[in-house]
Amino acid sequence: MRVLTVVGARPQFIKSAPVSKAFLAQGIEEYIVHTGQHYDDSMSAVFFDQLGLPKPIYTLSAGGLNRDAMIASIRKDLLPILESVRPDYVLVYGDTNSTLAGALAADELAIPLLHIEAGLRSFNDEMPEEINRIQTDELSTILFTPSEEANKNIEAEGFLAPFQKVVTVGDVMYDALLMFKDFSRHSAQMGDIDTFNSPFALATLHRQENVKHPERLKERIQTLNTLHNSGLNVWMPLHPSTKQQITANGISIDFITAAPVGYLEMLWLLEKAQIVLTDSGGLQKEAYFMNKPCITLRNETEWTELVDSGANELFTLSRPAQEIISVVERLKNATMPVQEFYGKGDAAALITRTLKNLS
Ligand code: UDP
Repeated sequence: MRVLTVVGARPQFIKSAPVSKAFLAQGIEEYIVHTGQHYDDSMSAVFFDQLGLPKPIYTLSAGGLNRDAMIASIRKDLLPILESVRPDYVLVYGDTNSTLAGALAADELAIPLLHIEAGLRSFNDEMPEEINRIQTDELSTILFTPSEEANKNIEAEGFLAPFQKVVTVGDVMYDALLMFKDFSRHSAQMGDIDTFNSPFALATLHRQENVKHPERLKERIQTLNTLHNSGLNVWMPLHPSTKQQITANGISIDFITAAPVGYLEMLWLLEKAQIVLTDSGGLQKEAYFMNKPCITLRNETEWTELVDSGANELFTLSRPAQEIISVVERLKNATMPVQEFYGKGDAAALITRTLKNLS
């Protein structure tokens, strides 16, 4: 069996690590195309190195294009590659422009599509990710879902055709975390290791809904400044597009920032941090897997079970910055849930088994 995998953004490199390893172990031939959506070494190459990902057969150059141009360019470039590799399946992850472009190319050539992390919804159609994931799910042959909530979303939309199949496998990000947790590490680019001897909050911010609107970005930064100045250090690896917007809008940051770090460094930070503040989908779950409370810097989340369980709280826009201090205090003392919302960390094995059973 031959699978062509389309990846292009940081979380997709991480998600693909356990799946590529399982494919290799089970004799599924995998060909990887990197779309170039993320191209900085700190957003791309570092993950191939750290996680031992297979080398892509092609790396496209879609980075820096706007959404429509990026999807069109990746789709067009994928067509001749798909025609020459002739895979049995195209595999895509998550909800990025690369995901949808891969789905559209597979559809054009009538190649069955596998979607890992299917069924997630924010119900916010202002988010490009929401459009990407809905369209990808509609084109998918097998929808590999991470949670019961995802299954419910698919059922509620009612688009499933007889050729489509939903398979609940859990979250491949849990597989990745279990696979690499023992290799977590501090590295020099994160600054002095002593910084992390005092309690700190690990923060990330990159979503368009926060970053592309200067007023919202100012508000989010102000909230984090307030927390930092209240006495709990805030430490943030700055996403390149966030950094660009902060500079362009002259926003001042009081907390500690660094360049984006690798996954092993992120796992180290997660172990050490008292709490996580983020608008990242992946990081909300990683906090939960590591038994850390999380404040989600968004108005809604796809990972609703975490909020319902009390492990995660939404900090919506227009909440006064000062409130962050009491929310952090409350969550730091919250009891973390013990339920397995996202499977047992064997999603890659379940995906592989499903595919093997089809052949
Ligand atoms: N991550 C990382 N280095 C960083 C920031 C995040 O390795 O400097 C990891 C994080 O631990 C998680 C993934 O990147 O595994 C999340 O990616 P991102 O937040 O870019 O996307 P999202 O999950 O929101 O789609």
